[in-house]
Amino acid sequence: MTQTQLNVEQSNATSFDAVTENHLAKHAIQVHKFGGSSLASSQCINRVLEIIKSHCQINDIIVVSANGDTTDHLFSLYQLAQEQLQASLEEQDPRPLEAAVAALSKQQQALITELLNANNAKQLIHSLAADIEQLKAWLTGDLSAHHNNILAFGELWSARLLSALLNEKLCPSNSIDARDFLVIDNEVDCLVDTATSAAQLRQHRQFGKLAVITGYISKDERGHTCTLGRNGSDYSATIVASLVDARNVTLWTDVDGIYSADPRIVPSARKLHRLPNGVAKELGRLGNPVLHAKTLLPLINPLTEHHTHLHVASSFDAQVAGTEIGKFGQIAKQELSVTYLNDLLLAHSESFIGEAANKVRAEFAPICVDDKQGFVVITQAQQKALSQWLASHDTEVKFNPVSIIATVGHKVAERGDIKARFKRSLRSVKPLHLVNSDNSHSVIAILSEPCTPEILNNVHHDMTKDARHIGLVVAGLGNIGQRFLELLPSQLAKVEALENTHLVGLLSSKKALINNDGIDVNQALSLFEQDSQGYDNQQLLSWLSHHPYDELIVVDITPSEDFSLLYEQFFQQGIHVIGANKWAASSSTAHYNNLIQQAERHHSIWLGNTTVGAGLPINFAIDDLRHSGDEINQIAGIFSGTLSWLFETYDGSTSFSSLMLDALQQGITEPDPREDLSGRDVQRKLLILARKAGFELSLDDIDCQNLVPEHLQALDTQAFLARADELDEFFADQLARANADNACIRYVARLQATPQDDSANGLKLTAKVSLEVLAKTDAFANLTPCDNIFQISSRWYQDNPLIIRGPGAGRDVTAGGLHSDLVNICQQLASKQNQVKIKGIN
Ligand code: ASP
Ligand code: MG
Repeated sequence: MTQTQLNVEQSNATSFDAVTENHLAKHAIQVHKFGGSSLASSQCINRVLEIIKSHCQINDIIVVSANGDTTDHLFSLYQLAQEQLQASLEEQDPRPLEAAVAALSKQQQALITELLNANNAKQLIHSLAADIEQLKAWLTGDLSAHHNNILAFGELWSARLLSALLNEKLCPSNSIDARDFLVIDNEVDCLVDTATSAAQLRQHRQFGKLAVITGYISKDERGHTCTLGRNGSDYSATIVASLVDARNVTLWTDVDGIYSADPRIVPSARKLHRLPNGVAKELGRLGNPVLHAKTLLPLINPLTEHHTHLHVASSFDAQVAGTEIGKFGQIAKQELSVTYLNDLLLAHSESFIGEAANKVRAEFAPICVDDKQGFVVITQAQQKALSQWLASHDTEVKFNPVSIIATVGHKVAERGDIKARFKRSLRSVKPLHLVNSDNSHSVIAILSEPCTPEILNNVHHDMTKDARHIGLVVAGLGNIGQRFLELLPSQLAKVEALENTHLVGLLSSKKALINNDGIDVNQALSLFEQDSQGYDNQQLLSWLSHHPYDELIVVDITPSEDFSLLYEQFFQQGIHVIGANKWAASSSTAHYNNLIQQAERHHSIWLGNTTVGAGLPINFAIDDLRHSGDEINQIAGIFSGTLSWLFETYDGSTSFSSLMLDALQQGITEPDPREDLSGRDVQRKLLILARKAGFELSLDDIDCQNLVPEHLQALDTQAFLARADELDEFFADQLARANADNACIRYVARLQATPQDDSANGLKLTAKVSLEVLAKTDAFANLTPCDNIFQISSRWYQDNPLIIRGPGAGRDVTAGGLHSDLVNICQQLASKQNQVKIKGIN
């Protein structure tokens, strides 16, 4: 098997920039770490194989935890062995220990035989047997000297198995025991001997082989095995990343990201798509179950300022975009979360006042310190040491059991509004104190009672209820698109439903400007001019599938059928679409029905009020009647602003063709007026409304009268315009006949649903768009030129139809209609909740 079988193009990039950058720097290393639960069974490991196949390059690095709960198992073996040693002779019973070792060995054997072919399995089982003998010897020999060696087996086996499986199924691979390169002199202060470790790692990586490295373990300067603490493999992964200057580390785990509160306790927790480094660290410090305090330390290289980004993603649902931790701009800095810790102690002492507090900070890194009032909050485990330390300073200390609940976010302690909201959310809890963390990334409330799920849920609700982030991508920067953007700043400023909506993408047919940190709406177009880059649909979809917002809305103001073909993929990714573009809504029945189904399945909202009648609320009104239980049986009207103008103005005093050329000059017609005269646009609009009203039909079911005679249809535009006077006779004739009856001519769309005689067949539909002769008193005969009129008859509006009338085209009304759809979507999204996917944490 060769390198090309790994997906060399794809990365776990989450930004458009990263996608393009990766094309340039194909060999930027990524580290992928798989947690214990991701490797717990052969089924899980096969999933991991798929992830590696689609996300890794051959020069990436894999770091693994022990399979499932192997480390727990090894700990309990050690415990049992210790009890044996301490037991008196007659109490000794070797059987439980032997049975536990046998069970562990069996578990490993099962994984090996389920995953590997017979030959490879045989080799691994052979090595396993040797390890088990060694394990037994240590357990019954010089036990305490081998504590860490015993624990190391978990990761050793896990790496060996995954590497063998990769060799067999996917690509050349070698497993590396981290004790062969990683030197950590002081585990507590995380003093990695970087130079030695990096050099030794280089020696162990083999060109053209995917390295699988054991997490959790390392060696000290004497070469003895150390561990990095429970769940330390995450930390191993970030250390390895720093040794090779990796661009990204992905922690593949069993939750699909970091949430605004522990989702096991707070069902309405929101995924935090992007977390600034400092905030993530603060979350880890204050009890986040996924982020361990040390994991984030190696991510910034203080010398080179190189930022490695960390991703948290679920190996059980690899398609779902997780959380990215790194360096970001303003939008990500607004994220808020709530976290808590129980079983803590509040300690009051004079030694915590003023300058003196710095000593306790350095010595104990308390959860919080108030150096004015003189108190700190520590864990129960720190009590003894703190008491002794204070006794040596000759000061008294008083301890009280407490818990904390904190709101965490970029510099929240400096944001008055957030602090006030936090205080309000705690009204009924009556905290003892509110303290700002030293780094200002959290405000911590100290509670005299344990923090219950109820408190956590209530506070979380108050702090984050309107904290969704909505990304907005505008496609099509023509006349209407530009107007939409001009209106955007004031809309964002004044419409409450648009709070936290950010313009993040601008697309023309060839160029794109995507900025995950938001595009300044006040200079959107000039930024587009300056910074946009060429793109293709593949790049666009790749960026969209990793967008870092709670919701993403694409506003399609293009006239492009090609762009409308992307809707299906948008919907599949849960992206919402507002379209002025008529193509999708008037596409073939099968295509249209599929779009509706996809949107429903993925909870995408699709609004297109401006596809017909510009900003007039016609699509909206039909939708509303239908969903309120009414039954529509007739839709009629004048749907084309151009044809409305032409026939309202045409009175025979000037020829039809000169009127038409005049309209062309004024921009009332399409550049080729035959587009309007053909009736196709009206036909599409009637189809869109008919579908909205619940009828299933296709374009062909609507008769369409083309006002351009056949002999003028095939000409190019210039030739047609030169021969436009050939239209005149027909229209003069139509007008004269109408005038004779004191009537007029109008281009009208009509859809009529009549019950069939044989009622089993349901309704009979007739639909057509054509030139009609109307009485001069007809509702359709007296419009302001350019206006549209829509007339709806239904069960509720039977004798006297519902009429909507007004400008059916124009820059302001169309852009305004798009804004109305945008507000509508944002209002609907305010009440939407996303499902959290958890398998168990780690
Ligand atoms: N296997 C070790 C543990 O369970 C390390 C890890 O999973 O990260 O603690
Ligand atoms: Mg674990």
